[in-house]
Amino acid sequence: MHNIDKYVVGVDLGGTKIAAALFDSSGKMLKRERTETAGAATAREVVMRITGMVQSVAEGRTLSGVGLASPGAVNSRDGIVLHGTNLPEWTNIPLKKWMEAELGAPVQVVNDANAAAWGEYARGAGRGSANMVYVTFSTGIGAGIVLDGELLLGTNSFAGELGHNIIDPGGPVCSCGRNGCWETFASGTAIRNATLVLMQERPSLIAELAAARGEEVSSRTVFEAREQGDAVALEVIERAIHYMALGLANAVHTFNPDRIVIGGGVSKAAGQLFPMLREETEKLVMKPYQGSYEIVPAGLHDDVGLIGAAAMFRFQPASTAANSH
Ligand SMILES: [Zn+2]
Repeated sequence: MHNIDKYVVGVDLGGTKIAAALFDSSGKMLKRERTETAGAATAREVVMRITGMVQSVAEGRTLSGVGLASPGAVNSRDGIVLHGTNLPEWTNIPLKKWMEAELGAPVQVVNDANAAAWGEYARGAGRGSANMVYVTFSTGIGAGIVLDGELLLGTNSFAGELGHNIIDPGGPVCSCGRNGCWETFASGTAIRNATLVLMQERPSLIAELAAARGEEVSSRTVFEAREQGDAVALEVIERAIHYMALGLANAVHTFNPDRIVIGGGVSKAAGQLFPMLREETEKLVMKPYQGSYEIVPAGLHDDVGLIGAAAMFRFQPASTAANSH
């Protein structure tokens, strides 16, 4: 039924850039392009740029599907971007409908964290797992859940917002307006903020390291200072690991995954992160869950959105159980 002449395009829509890539049925990337979104006045114009790029990478081939990863709130069932990106007029955009009319191919729209989760599951560090939790620690915390081989969407396709689970009602104010969400304790931003506070109170190598690089203090400089035994860095990282593990332990109890895949800038900055994170998570989960999951770094890096979006139209032979969506 699925022969080799099937092509899929993945699109990664960002606030400032659009990337599109053509994949063959085995999941191999054949061609890619990138463009800026700057200068587009309306949502329609952005969509015309997207469809233009899809046609450009497809080079006249018939497409069996186009998957698009979008930031913000996405209704995946109807293919509508509800809100939440810095593109012009980007509210309640019927992206699937507009793109299908233009391209004559089926389109699936998915939130970028879910696309990344699906990409890791289908083609990256989640391969071979059945129940996977994907978490990305960067400016905020993004997450996506795969259960029994299916991406978990929920009623409004909003499932998996682990970063906004409240872990301390008395905690710092979050970007969502509430207090004490997981990402106010365990994101790159949280690590940076905690560092800046401690640096006011105590001497630290961190300022020197950042200055030598000509950079602001970031989770990367903090991890570097930790390797050199800096007391502030040691304290900040120990606390960050505890909070990261706390959220992961909650996810283990909620989803009972066999694998947790960790992506994002914080995990890239920290080679020594994983042993500590595993140990701390094991301390925080209940006994029956201990040893039931592994925690591994993401495998796909910058292309994860493109690959995950394209993989919404399952690559063959991705798995013997896969059937077309
Ligand atoms: Zn929040």
